[in-house]
Amino acid sequence: MNDTRGHDVGDRLLVEVAQRLIIHMRQEDIVCRLGGDEFVVVLEGLGQDALNAANQAETIAEKVRQALNQPYSLSINEARYLGTTSIGLTLFQGQSASVDMLLKQADVALYQAKGAGRNTARFFNPAMQAAIDSRMETEAALRQALERDEFQLYYQPQIDQHGELIGAEALLRWFPSDRGMVSPAEFIPLAEETGLILPIGQWVLDTACAQIKDWERDPRTRFLQMAVNVSARQFHQSDFVATVQRSLAASDIDPTRLKLELTESVVLDNVDIVVSQMRQLNALGVSFCLDDFGTGYSSLSYLKRLPLDQVKIDQSFVRDVPEDENDVAIVRAIMAMSRSLGLQVIAEGVETQAQRDFLLQNDCRAYQGFLFCRPLPIDEWKSIPAMQT
Ligand code: C2E
Ligand code: MG
Ligand code: MG
Repeated sequence: MNDTRGHDVGDRLLVEVAQRLIIHMRQEDIVCRLGGDEFVVVLEGLGQDALNAANQAETIAEKVRQALNQPYSLSINEARYLGTTSIGLTLFQGQSASVDMLLKQADVALYQAKGAGRNTARFFNPAMQAAIDSRMETEAALRQALERDEFQLYYQPQIDQHGELIGAEALLRWFPSDRGMVSPAEFIPLAEETGLILPIGQWVLDTACAQIKDWERDPRTRFLQMAVNVSARQFHQSDFVATVQRSLAASDIDPTRLKLELTESVVLDNVDIVVSQMRQLNALGVSFCLDDFGTGYSSLSYLKRLPLDQVKIDQSFVRDVPEDENDVAIVRAIMAMSRSLGLQVIAEGVETQAQRDFLLQNDCRAYQGFLFCRPLPIDEWKSIPAMQT
């Protein structure tokens, strides 16, 4: 640009690039020009987790790339200038690497970006790049999963102390066409981050309600309660109550058959609004279970305010009872607390008879886990004992 259009136009381009960079950074970030047409940005405070920090860095790099791709008006009588940006990324934590070393790594990554056809961002660390690529592929596939009909609900039986079937939890499964099943632990967080959880959660709710309707038609299943997991982003949507109401109306089910599972992270945020939404749903007949109970930080004063029907003891506490003294103490404390708050209790992840016996001795009378049954697609429910009669 200096050679073809003169130094003053080249300088103006640099100033304009710097301004666009600054606009996209937070107050605490550092933006500087290293020389020539190279800029350096330092982002701090991206957290302790390397993959998470890499995801954030990637997102910001993409924002910068797009901002710098917009046309530049550098002088009145000339056409607008278009340029592309190549970005090299490297992560640092504490002072494990020198400044020189970090700049060298970013520079190597920058040349990889140029080698990959320019106008892109690359990580210095190949493993990090691979993780980012795979995440972006999964995200693209997840965006199409609903319309491609790749989701399925599995249902895991819930059992009482007499071994009778009392309900089920709906658990989402994703079968992408090009690989095997992907676990919800893998794609639910991604769906939350991208907002895809909203249409997906709606599908889950509609599908579960349709299943409740089917169960209502059979005397062996008409009393079952269906538990449906609701994620934070979904519950905090301002029209969540209305969407549940629509699902209930569309399926024409008895709302008392539906139980929503919330986690502590959902209910600890904005307690007043949460309580109000829960009350509105309660008024419709819908009930609530607090999932993964004990893994968060709920205080008793919060719990008392929430219109909960049930808490679910997290599987991490069930796993090592009755051997582990700490877990024994935690389970007993949860039981005592639930008794005084008038809450029902269910234990998840029950895998052995010893666990189940310990739970019953401590007055926990509802269970879910591999000891009884794995989550099953609905066609396989025919094979479970309670459905044989
Ligand atoms: P969760 O709600 O706590 O579900 C319990 C998980 O424990 C399920 O994993 C279930 O398959 C597994 N499990 C059941 N019995 C046993 C057992 O005896 N031993 C062991 N080790 N595990 C057992 P899954 O299906 O992989 O789901 C993982 C998580 O993904 C769920 O945890 C839930 O947080 C989330 N999830 C699943 N479906 C949905 C959904 O439709 N919407 C939302 N928002 N989240 C969902
Ligand atoms: Mg659950
Ligand atoms: Mg759980």
